[in-house]
Amino acid sequence: MQWETVIGLEVHVQLATRSKIFSGASTAFGAEPNTQACAVDLGLPGVLPVLNEAAVAMAVQFGLAIHAEIPEVSVFDRKNYFYPDLPKGYQTSQMYHPIVGAGEVEITLDDGSTKRVRVHHAHLEEDAGKSLHEDFHGMTGVDLNRAGTPLLEIVSEPDLRSAKEAAAYLKAIHSIVTYLGISDGNMAEGSMRCDVNVSVRPVGQEAFGTRAEIKNVNSFRFVERAIAFEVERQIELLEDGGQVVQETRLFDPDRDETRSMRTKEEANDYRYFPCPDLLPVVLDRAYVDHLRETLPELPADKRARFEKELGLSAYDAGVLSASREMAEYFERVKDVCGDAKQAANWVQGELSGALNREGLPIQHSPVSAEALGELIARVMDDTINGKAAKQVFQALWNGEGASADEVIEAKGLKQVTDSGAIEAMIDQVIADSPAQVAQYRDAEPDKRGKMIGYFVGQVMKASRGTANPQQVNALLKEKLDALC
Ligand code: ADP
Ligand code: MG
Repeated sequence: MQWETVIGLEVHVQLATRSKIFSGASTAFGAEPNTQACAVDLGLPGVLPVLNEAAVAMAVQFGLAIHAEIPEVSVFDRKNYFYPDLPKGYQTSQMYHPIVGAGEVEITLDDGSTKRVRVHHAHLEEDAGKSLHEDFHGMTGVDLNRAGTPLLEIVSEPDLRSAKEAAAYLKAIHSIVTYLGISDGNMAEGSMRCDVNVSVRPVGQEAFGTRAEIKNVNSFRFVERAIAFEVERQIELLEDGGQVVQETRLFDPDRDETRSMRTKEEANDYRYFPCPDLLPVVLDRAYVDHLRETLPELPADKRARFEKELGLSAYDAGVLSASREMAEYFERVKDVCGDAKQAANWVQGELSGALNREGLPIQHSPVSAEALGELIARVMDDTINGKAAKQVFQALWNGEGASADEVIEAKGLKQVTDSGAIEAMIDQVIADSPAQVAQYRDAEPDKRGKMIGYFVGQVMKASRGTANPQQVNALLKEKLDALC
C-alpha cells in the first residue's frame, strides 16, 4: 500500500516587543529566574491587564505579509487549565476571533519549485512560564520570566505533504517574521517553536487519517526528523491492523523518536470564554492601511525581483533572499561591483564557505560587503586574476587590510598584463625545462593542449600568481609551437 503524509503546523512566534503582552515587565532573554514576572503576569488579585499595542501592530504586519484578511474585531479568551508554570490558572489567548484571518505562505522546495500553503488563521496569546527539571533532584523548578511574553500562533491548513515541505514552510515563516523584524527568530532560545500535526492516508483516499500532534519542536532539523519517525510509526501501526489514536506526543532528539504524552484534550475541556478584563480589539482602517504602507519588501517579492530583474537562477534567488541579512549583504556587494551574477557567485561560494567553516552568521562576516564588492570589481576590470582574488579574499578575511585595493597593493598582486614581461617569464621557463619541451615537441599535436598546463603552472608560479592566465596560455602556445 502507498501512503501519503499530511501535515499541519502550529507555529509559535515570540514577538520582539520590549515588554509583555499585558504588562510593562521586560521580555529580555536570559535574566535571573523569576525577576521579570510582575503581578499582572502572575494574575494576582486586583490587577488588570493592558494590551501592548506593539504586539497588535506586529500581528497585523504578519497578517498583511501573508495577504490575510484582517478582521475589524478580535477578542481575547481565557483558556483555563492548571499547570505549575501557569499561576493565573488560565492562558489569555484568542479562540474564536483571532487577529489574523485566512492567508497564505509561499514555500520554496530544494528544486526551486514553489508551493502555496494556506494559513487558517493567526492569533495572539501569552506564553506561560517554564518548568525546569534538569538542575533539581526530585523536584521541579519554575521560572516565570517568560509568563506573559507575547506570542503569535500561526496555524496552517493541513496542506503540507512531506517533512521537507514542513521544514520549508517553517523556514518561510522564519524569514517573513525576521524580514518584518517582529521576532528575532532565535530558535535555540525558543523564539520560534512549533507543534507538528501528522497523519497518513492511503494514496488516493480523500479523507484525512487520524493525526498525532508533536509538541514543541524547536529546530528545522528536528521538525524533519520528528515527522520522519512519526510517519513510519503510523504506517507500521496501520499496516499491522492497528489504529492511530489522536494524542499529544513529544519528540526526543537524543533517541530520535516521538513518545506519547497524553491523549488530546478537546477545546471544550478548556472552558474557553471571553476575557472579561480585556476589551475586544477594534482596528480602524487607517491604522491597518498605515501598517500596510510601512511593510518592507518581503522574501517572496525579493526572490521574484532577484530572478526577474537581476537575472539570477531560481535557486540563487532563493538562497540570497532567505534571510534579510543575506539579502542586504548581497545587494550591497552587487551595488558596489555592479554585477549581480558575480556578486551571487562570490557570496554563495567563497564567502558562504568561509562563514560555514567558522559557524558565523553573515552579519558577523569579517569581510564587509563593500570590501567584497570592490574585490569583485578588481577582478572584472582585470586588475587581478581569479587566483589572486582568492588570496585577497583570504587576507581580508584575516583582517590583513581594510580594502581590496589596500591588500592588492600591499601584496603586489596586481595582474601582469604587460606582454613583454610575460614573454620574458615564458622564455625563462622554456629555457629551464628542456625535457618538457622535448616531450611537447614529440607529442602528437592533439595531445599538446594538455601538456601546456605544466608550462602555464611554471609561469604563474614565477609571476607569484599575478600573470594574466589567458595571455600566458596564448603566448606559451605560440612560442612552444614555434619550437616544433
Ligand atoms: P485543534 O483545535 O485540535 O488544535 P485544529 O483543527 O485547529 O485542531 O488543527 C490544528 C492543526 O492540525 C492545524 O495546523 C491543522 O492543519 C492540523 N491538522 C488538522 N487535521 C489534520 C490531519 N488529519 N493531519 C494532519 N494535520 C492536521
Ligand atoms: Mg492546537
